[in-house]
Amino acid sequence: MRSHDRFSRQTCVPGVDQSKIDNASVLVVGAGGLGSPVILYLSAAGVGTVNVYDPDFVDETNLHRQILYTDRDVGNSKSIATAMRLKDMGTDGWVSPHFFPSRPPPEYAEFLRDYAVILDCTDRWSSHDAVVQSGLASGKPVVHGSIQGLLGRVMTFRPGGACWRCLHPSEPSGAKDGPRGTLGPVCGVIGSMMAMEALKIILEWPSQEDRMDVYDARSGEVLSLPRAPSADCPCRTR
Ligand SMILES: [Zn+2]
Repeated sequence: MRSHDRFSRQTCVPGVDQSKIDNASVLVVGAGGLGSPVILYLSAAGVGTVNVYDPDFVDETNLHRQILYTDRDVGNSKSIATAMRLKDMGTDGWVSPHFFPSRPPPEYAEFLRDYAVILDCTDRWSSHDAVVQSGLASGKPVVHGSIQGLLGRVMTFRPGGACWRCLHPSEPSGAKDGPRGTLGPVCGVIGSMMAMEALKIILEWPSQEDRMDVYDARSGEVLSLPRAPSADCPCRTR
């Protein structure tokens, strides 16, 4: 049981109802560069249940940005290392060593309905597509983040608004080309923005709506781009 004092520096912020945070469940897909700050901040904030998917193993080249892990974890399953971090922070939840299904079966809609918010911390088109579309189909908001070099993007997708397919109807060519680099703090900025969006949704505060925020680490600027559903949005024909 966590003491009242533990959260006293956030419950003194107007509008923070710790019981809403305590009772919330979130699903984080991907425990890498974005998943690390998302999982750490939401867990530290006291989110009651943090469930995570990640099938990967920790590689030495992950460590500069994936701050969930240390040298000791290299070669081990990210799911085991992440589960240990959650336990150390007193957070309930499971960490699955499987891929989030690329074509979620119908029963997933029921499963996803348990979450206050789903966080897309994956790093490829097909995973973004699976997580965002299945979350929206369950009527849940999905906070998406992605990194491309020194650019980071954050968008909260909501049922009835633009979906992933509105923005990206098909997989871009070259999307699977070799490793792309970034600097760790770019993941930190975007992951922190995602965690904040999730807390705002949990606290029922107004949150980012119908727009994508693009952060350019080189200039330090954030551009907010309006995003509306496309005329042939697949969600409308469902
Ligand atoms: Zn759409």
